[in-house]
Amino acid sequence: MANTAAGQGGGDAIRSIAIVGGGTAGWMAASYLARTLAHANLDITLIDSSEIGTVGVGEATVPAIRDFLKAVGLTEAEVLDATEGTIKLGIHFADWAEPGHRFYHPFGLYGVPARGVPFHHYWLKLRAAGHEVPLADYCLCTQLAEHDRFLAPPERPGSDLGVFDFALHFDASKFATVLRDLSLSGGVTHLDGRIEAVEQDPQNGRVRAVKLADGRRVAADLWIDCSGFRGLLIGEAMGVPFIDWRKWLPCDRAIALGCEPVDAYRPVTTSTARAAGWQWHIPLRHRIGNGYVYCSDHIEDDAAEAVLRANIEGAALGEARRIRFTPGHRDRFWKGNVVAIGLAGGFLEPLESTSITLIQSGLERLVRLFPDRGFDPALATLFDRQSRLEFERIRDFLLLHYCLNRRLGEPLWDRMRTMELPEALQAKIDAWRAQGELVRYEWETFQDPSWLSMYAGFDLYPRRYSIRADQFDVAELRSTFERMRAAIGDTVRLGVPGHAFATQLPQRQTGMPRQFAR
Ligand code: FAD
Repeated sequence: MANTAAGQGGGDAIRSIAIVGGGTAGWMAASYLARTLAHANLDITLIDSSEIGTVGVGEATVPAIRDFLKAVGLTEAEVLDATEGTIKLGIHFADWAEPGHRFYHPFGLYGVPARGVPFHHYWLKLRAAGHEVPLADYCLCTQLAEHDRFLAPPERPGSDLGVFDFALHFDASKFATVLRDLSLSGGVTHLDGRIEAVEQDPQNGRVRAVKLADGRRVAADLWIDCSGFRGLLIGEAMGVPFIDWRKWLPCDRAIALGCEPVDAYRPVTTSTARAAGWQWHIPLRHRIGNGYVYCSDHIEDDAAEAVLRANIEGAALGEARRIRFTPGHRDRFWKGNVVAIGLAGGFLEPLESTSITLIQSGLERLVRLFPDRGFDPALATLFDRQSRLEFERIRDFLLLHYCLNRRLGEPLWDRMRTMELPEALQAKIDAWRAQGELVRYEWETFQDPSWLSMYAGFDLYPRRYSIRADQFDVAELRSTFERMRAAIGDTVRLGVPGHAFATQLPQRQTGMPRQFAR
């Protein structure tokens, strides 16, 4: 077969990129593309409108954010300092299974596998033998969080017992400022102006240019739509419909309200179930971010705001912000020469803080599949497939939080407990119930330990444990488990309070190892 490869950098190479939107997605895109494609001498312009503003409520992340920071040349310490940020070791779920019940979804492993058999099978065997062995006791990350302690993850952990990671909480507007400064110093041009019209090629529908309200015209080869829920390019110009997932995830509104910090902050996001949804609590150094995510079928906006106000710890700061959203995603994330990143591409309620990580993976995918001006449709097809799967996997993980509840008699929770689940999720739950099998599909953001934390957190136990766990008898397992628990306790005692660590981090640590990569 003839070699027809023209290569990149030739006459057909992309020369210019325009990013529409200057929220978290827009500035993440600008800084990431400017840095990772610096060698390509691209002309990158970001257009946003100070009249329109941003959503700006994304303040909790997952550990993958650390890869992003590294990719754009920032350290965790710099970002924590510049954004009033704090450390996050996971999420503390309160009242989800039933009122008064709580558990953690940590960013770390549970126990140590033996003879090729995952730890949780041995844990299930001990439970089946009648021993009280809370799974959380065998996770260093959970124990650090529970005792409000933090340690830098060790460079080379002696065993799986020492494997954990962390993410950041930050003030979203300050994070956007950090990224904006970085982008501008990396050569990105910033235009403040409201886009009034989009000019498209009549032959193929591709976007050629946009016109701003003040008459300026901006042209580019590749367009990144970061315009928020509206989807100015992907939806309005390219006509890509939105796939509405309210059937699965009925929460469609949120109220956000900051308050004064009352205490030293703990290194976790807290999510507390409420009658018509759930409330977030995100500790920052200068304030606590609070919000109520709820389903408008089950509570009025004013009543929801009253619930939120009644359940914040400190004095409210500023006005409450009311936000409406539709969970789901665009039918296509890439069409023609437009790629949707951030809310323009889709949104899932922030229960597991996944929007920023979806922005990041969208950008990584774009750089991996970076087109030339021919815009080979095979690249867009692959981009769409992977993005869609990533959204579906997260949707199913979120659904798991709802469908395992035991909050009887509350309409939202009854509805979620009895709904027919997506096939892929049902198959996973069935495999767990049958024999403690943790099923993993491609493009999962959340790996086995996360699923395990949910099953155990909601007290959903398999009917039997795997025969492989019979390689050790109960007495052997009990003494091994006791040693693990003691080792974790000793390590936790070496930690410093989470708030102290976050503020000392700049002097003490940069470039800490990532142990829990996706
Ligand atoms: P936006 O912030 O809406 O920005 C849109 C940009 O487009 C703005 O700059 C605007 O000026 C520009 N624009 C729009 N129209 C025009 C026009 N005509 N001309 C010029 N410019 C235009 N994510 C997490 O990871 N963790 C969380 O804890 C989290 N919590 C959340 C809580 C809630 C209630 C919500 C709704 C979201 C949350 N998110 C969270 C998601 C997160 O906030 C978003 O993913 C993130 O802010 C990215 O938004 P964006 O940049 O896509 O859009």
